[in-house]
Amino acid sequence: MIELREGRHGSVGGLDIVRVLPTKGRRTVGPWCFVDLMLPPDATDPDPMEVGPHPHIGLSTVTWIMEGEAIHSDSLGTIQPIRPGQLNLMTAGHGIAHAELATSRTILGVQMWLAQPEDTRHGGRAFQHVPELPVFEQPGCTGSVLVGQFAGVTSPASVDSATVGVDLDLRKGATQFVADPGFEYCVVPVTGPVLVSGHRVDPGWVALVPEGTSDISIEAGNVGSRCMLLGGSPLGERIQMWWNFVARTRDELTEAFRDWERGNDDRFPGVPSTIPRIDAPRPPWLAPG
Ligand code: MN
Repeated sequence: MIELREGRHGSVGGLDIVRVLPTKGRRTVGPWCFVDLMLPPDATDPDPMEVGPHPHIGLSTVTWIMEGEAIHSDSLGTIQPIRPGQLNLMTAGHGIAHAELATSRTILGVQMWLAQPEDTRHGGRAFQHVPELPVFEQPGCTGSVLVGQFAGVTSPASVDSATVGVDLDLRKGATQFVADPGFEYCVVPVTGPVLVSGHRVDPGWVALVPEGTSDISIEAGNVGSRCMLLGGSPLGERIQMWWNFVARTRDELTEAFRDWERGNDDRFPGVPSTIPRIDAPRPPWLAPG
């Protein structure tokens, strides 16, 4: 049965966001553990998004811009502009830091995290920029495959677990997709409402599609609706998330917090960016200090 959940509105780096994952009672969809819609602000003269150096552990960031442009920089020395249609995939492993600076006034896009599995989450950091992604055409839609395999098309991006991430640009009429019954999925509308197997889903909401589903019908609620379809094998591990860290225990989160707080350059090497770094908030489970 498809479940609908409403996301929470917030702000990151001066950008309006809606966090649709994690959501109440549901932390992950396959390995996807975090999904933020990055939305153009209502203000007529907004300041560009500016997210200073901050750390990550145990996850890959999947950055997908639909309108606008930003520059990514990270601990590996990467300085990479990202534009619509291009994929940035940064893997933290034991630790990485990065910064994001918009070079356009507004950004429309999606920032997503994949939780790394046990066998890679303690490993090395990595960054992939994929300037061009494979695209498929079906009646009613054009799709770009960011990660994994979908509709007979395979992304060149390398990921750590069985997963799929697709951007669907919808026209008139429903499109029937073959789903992997071993995967769970979610549909995240970005612009315009979307009908997911008959359920209307508005931007800012997420439709959760359970394991065991063999086909999903997706239809534009408006001409020009656009959505993300994300899925994967259920994680099978209980993750702990706090701030920018994905781990398995609170002690691991505390250690990452302390390493960032004291500037451990082995774990979180410097980032080629002039934006001030972001301090970690104090974990609520630690005594005030
Ligand atoms: Mn980040």
